[in-house]
Amino acid sequence: MPLIVQKFGGTSVADPQKVLGAARKAIRAAQSGNQVVVVVSAMGKTTDHLIALANEITDRPNTREMDTLMSSGEQITIALMAIALESLGYKAVSMTGAQIGIKTDNTHTKARIKSISTDSMRRALDAGKIVIAAGFQGVNEDGDITTLGRGGSDTSAVALAAALDADECEIYTDVDGVYTTDPRILPEARKVSQISYDEMLELASLGAGVMHSRSIEFAKKFGVTVHVRSSFSDSVGTLIVATPESDAPVAGCAVAKNEARLTLVGAPDKPGIAMGLFSRIAEAKIATDMIVQNVGLEGRTDISFTVPATDLLATLDVLNLVSEEIGAERVEYQEKVAKVSAVGLGMENQSGVAEKMFRAISEKKINISMITTSEIKISALVSLDDASQTLRAVHSTFGLQNAPVKLNQPETLSSQSLSKVELNIARLSGMEDIVIESINLDRRQSRITLPEVPDTPGIAAEMFERIASAGVIVDMIVQSCGRDGKAMITFTAPRNILQKALDASRKLTNEWNAAEPQFNPEIAILTVRGTGLRSHTGLAYRMFKTLADGDINVNVISTSERSISITVNDSCGEKGLQLLKNEFAAEIM
Ligand code: ADP
Ligand code: ASP
Ligand code: MG
Repeated sequence: MPLIVQKFGGTSVADPQKVLGAARKAIRAAQSGNQVVVVVSAMGKTTDHLIALANEITDRPNTREMDTLMSSGEQITIALMAIALESLGYKAVSMTGAQIGIKTDNTHTKARIKSISTDSMRRALDAGKIVIAAGFQGVNEDGDITTLGRGGSDTSAVALAAALDADECEIYTDVDGVYTTDPRILPEARKVSQISYDEMLELASLGAGVMHSRSIEFAKKFGVTVHVRSSFSDSVGTLIVATPESDAPVAGCAVAKNEARLTLVGAPDKPGIAMGLFSRIAEAKIATDMIVQNVGLEGRTDISFTVPATDLLATLDVLNLVSEEIGAERVEYQEKVAKVSAVGLGMENQSGVAEKMFRAISEKKINISMITTSEIKISALVSLDDASQTLRAVHSTFGLQNAPVKLNQPETLSSQSLSKVELNIARLSGMEDIVIESINLDRRQSRITLPEVPDTPGIAAEMFERIASAGVIVDMIVQSCGRDGKAMITFTAPRNILQKALDASRKLTNEWNAAEPQFNPEIAILTVRGTGLRSHTGLAYRMFKTLADGDINVNVISTSERSISITVNDSCGEKGLQLLKNEFAAEIM
């Protein structure tokens, strides 16, 4: 018998009438001949209210007790949902995370799922019952209640679908699908019929709150088809699957408004510095993004990165300690910044995407204070006040409001690599364990740094347009945050066009009356590819540590959900590759 998992978010079960509405959807699925597992969130804003209660007592509540508190929200909904189903004449049984057997690690308030026992759910389903599972919660090995992080019911639902080998996982919510960007911010956003796992994963971790990003890690790893749709209508929503909707360079854009930027200024430029810093931050389970390490000048370098604003204080504690230990000059930070990102699998093989985005932002006279790129995303940091305008400019420059030409060829590379991963998934000891697909070395690259770029709107656009018109296709781009009115921009380009890139760069620095470009004609890029690389906060650290232990200095870093790339001197490339292969031997699928 086909099995379907349906998840109802907070707004979809906000009051008893809505609970009944959700129950009717479950009944319809059962009447169509499916076994049904329903996953529910806490009603409406219950979780926020529970957190506020604790915060009235203290601003640093015990995290074990927070989990006991927060998980109570979902426990209310499962009982009401079961009561609703029984009242409508259907057999149902509610189950908490512990009753199901959702085992997690010990990280209270951000726990990861290790395993799910399907026995009790199967028995109930086989007895003709609809199973109502509490989202967002599990138990650790001591039997203590844990929660998976805000928005974690999506992850519960997709994980249950994976464990039960469900035919589909339906995510019922207050929008009728995934849009090209948050439709509450941009009404012109378009609902997409389909989006790839890689794109959704990246968008979700960059601020598209419609799905919890870890739920997409599950979907990708276990090949779960996810259907995001409306609780309040019957319209078809969006399928999250292996293949993208089209080969347009950008599939969607997102804004993360609650970000903070931190910079360690004047750190000694030697192997192990980045490693030491990010290992400490990883220990605190804080996910960093937009990591930019300046090319060192006079033996000193600046390392900047962003974290969610809620993690700012904890990150500052770590950074201040590290700064003192290693003798850096100082720590700087900036609140009220927003990260706007464009994401698309299509940008991997199309050039000109970055300069188009920078141009659109500059036309609004908005200054970009940091830039990072990876294979399938470009992120720009702007001030919070400019966030919505930046998002609108990016959305419109890529024509995201217009329907794209659909792909006729449904199979892509990402689905091929997926099947390989699927075959090996049985080797995972924990369901949320990291999966590494490949580790590669690219020895065809060179690096150019413009150390003194005027820190004014439009500079990145002008620079990369000029470089592109000289026939140079750039790969990684990083712009560090400005100091004394100057920013530093580094990019990589294939060695055979280095000269062209240098000529174009020199023209620019002459016009700006700025310091000469610096370059390294032979660099190598080491790339680790897999699933969930950014949310597993320890991975980047392990890469840095492995390279530092081998006395290899790291230059440019680019992180995304599915890859982390690091540039090193070409002479260290082969050694670095071997070291990384050894380090990750157990996790390569
Ligand atoms: P639920 O309570 O059902 O889990 P959420 O509030 O977590 O619902 O997610 C739904 C919300 O996500 C929508 O109301 C919408 O404002 C927001 N959102 C952000 N980005 C997107 C996007 N790209 N597409 C659709 N909705 C989005
Ligand atoms: N109730 C939890 C929250 O509000 C989990 C969820 O709704 O997904 O974060
Ligand atoms: Mg949600």
